[in-house]
Amino acid sequence: MQEIAAIRKHITAVDKRILEALARRRRLVARIVEAKDRTGAPIRDTRREEQLLEELIAQGRRLGLDAHFILRVFGEILEDSLRAQKRHFLADPDPGPQRVAYQGIPGAYSEAAARRHFAPFLDRTSFVGLATFQEVVEAVEAGEAEYGILPLENTTAGSINEVYDLLSCARLTIVGEVIFQVDHCLVSLREVPLTEIDCVLSHPQALSQCLKFLSRLPHCEVRPFPDTAMAVKRIKEEANPRLAAIASEEAARLYGVHVLRRNVQDQRENFTRFVIVGKKSVPVDARVPCTTSLVMAVPHEAGALLKALSVLHQHDINLLKLESRPIPGLPFQYRFYLDMEGNTLETRIATALAELRRVTTSLTVLGCYPSQHHPRTRPPVPPPQPGADVAEATPSPSPSTATSKPPYPLVWRGSKPEGTVVLVRGVRIGGEVCIVMAGPCAVESREQIRQCAQQVRECGAHMLRGGCFKPRTSPYSFQGLGLEGLQLLAEAGAEFDLPIVTEVLSPADVDTVARYADLLQIGARNMQNFSLLAAVGRCQRPVLLKRGMMSTIDEFLGAAEYILAQGNHQVVLCERGIRTFETMTRNTLDLGAIPILKRLTHLPIVVDPSHAAGRRDLVAPLALAARAVGCHGLLVEIHPNPETALSDGPQALPFAEFAALMRALQGG
Ligand code: PEP
Ligand code: MN
Repeated sequence: MQEIAAIRKHITAVDKRILEALARRRRLVARIVEAKDRTGAPIRDTRREEQLLEELIAQGRRLGLDAHFILRVFGEILEDSLRAQKRHFLADPDPGPQRVAYQGIPGAYSEAAARRHFAPFLDRTSFVGLATFQEVVEAVEAGEAEYGILPLENTTAGSINEVYDLLSCARLTIVGEVIFQVDHCLVSLREVPLTEIDCVLSHPQALSQCLKFLSRLPHCEVRPFPDTAMAVKRIKEEANPRLAAIASEEAARLYGVHVLRRNVQDQRENFTRFVIVGKKSVPVDARVPCTTSLVMAVPHEAGALLKALSVLHQHDINLLKLESRPIPGLPFQYRFYLDMEGNTLETRIATALAELRRVTTSLTVLGCYPSQHHPRTRPPVPPPQPGADVAEATPSPSPSTATSKPPYPLVWRGSKPEGTVVLVRGVRIGGEVCIVMAGPCAVESREQIRQCAQQVRECGAHMLRGGCFKPRTSPYSFQGLGLEGLQLLAEAGAEFDLPIVTEVLSPADVDTVARYADLLQIGARNMQNFSLLAAVGRCQRPVLLKRGMMSTIDEFLGAAEYILAQGNHQVVLCERGIRTFETMTRNTLDLGAIPILKRLTHLPIVVDPSHAAGRRDLVAPLALAARAVGCHGLLVEIHPNPETALSDGPQALPFAEFAALMRALQGG
């Protein structure tokens, strides 16, 4: 115990030095802010952030710290500096007493979001709960509240039409936004089995975000209620344990009820975007990243909307959202709501607005306000040095375009000569960079997948793989951890900020797997499972389609066409070796297929050297060869201890060998 106490004393002393250093850094940021005030320099310089992080990763490594840790800690520090600079450049930093109207009662999501937005001024701010969105608008218009908060859209259930319609005729302006993560809970008076719940109360928006969960309670009545917190209050008042509500954990705590299930919304990541409205607009310093919202109508004639949107294109303005609503009294005519990146004080925005006025029949700027979404800078991570280098490879020249049209019109290269780039949570598959997805054959435990994720991140690879539903030759082999594995994989991906890819085996599992995975894998054995292809074709997630081990290139493209034909165009092909008479390797990697596929289709192509070889000594040479023939990415199996792996151990790279491969790939 004495030893621990002595070490803790040292830790406390180190923590104190960290605190002092952070405070010193903040004081320097304050001086930067003054200097930027004088010189007009922008508050964000992503190039400088990238250089800074690259240097910190290199220095940190010399001190024994991993890149992921450095990126996390300094990501937070840089964000703090950005927040401080934004605060400085925002007008009216210190208001007097103010009232904020919201719809609902204490514990409602709107109230929580308002508290977050006004956090620096909580001592001067009072929150007024009202019955409807309309009353919120009226209270601000009448001066009974300085501000109102209104939910505008939800990432699961979509736009809140009533609020859009109110905004178009309100005499108010949007002065801020709050992006609020909504985790719904099913709450009740006390712990009861779900089968004993007869009725669930909640706001219609919350109910529509939990449709899948509610459909699993078929015996249960679903009753809309004016507000989530009111629903909680009601179940408390009725004292009936057969009643439940969907609301926030905060509301459950506030009204002293029991949380039966957490995270019951359809999407794991569920955000609501609220806007703060006031009577007068607040100009925002041009250096602060802003969103401008407007509502417009265009003449009822061909090409009118296109004309309006091309104004934004001409001024290089990024459109964040486009929403249409019917115009009351004019059946089948619409007005459009637009959110775009930029500040009305910038010349390009002001000019674009002037030009937009010429091509629209009405246009109102709803507001220009500091944007809450600023992605963190992420420099590429070089794999740690030193280590044995594998032979260098040179990239292949681009293939030429096919001239005749094959029977697969949608995947045919001629239908999209520029090629498809599939975007998987920010990772571009099909661009210039040969991306690497790596991870174990199967998720085996929390610790195993976590260690793999850390290694994937540390080596600068881009995505985490891991099988949860395993297609095994023998029914007695390890079949994967199923849903539990999926949760562990998602957890590791989230911790290390890596998109995840995993296999889905049956149409019935597509929705569940899509809830967690960023990229859905169709395995070689299922390449011609047409009902599975159709099911992923109807879902919104990108798909990694592996070539069947007995399939020709033609059949491979036919399988991809099935997915595209259902509407999902985000397909990545994967060559993983085919069966030949050769017995030295598990399969024979068909490298020639890569340039052929690149000529025949616009879809990106990745290569899996692990399943092709079946033995780890061939993985690195085949990976380098695959890159040399022009693949867009690699899928590699790794394991913290391949000898104990529950599946495909002989082909898994131990961590050191994977790091060497990554160095060879990045150096080449
Ligand atoms: C896998 O990648 O986990 C897998 C089973 O591969 P394949 O479908 O190519 O055999
Ligand atoms: Mn495997």
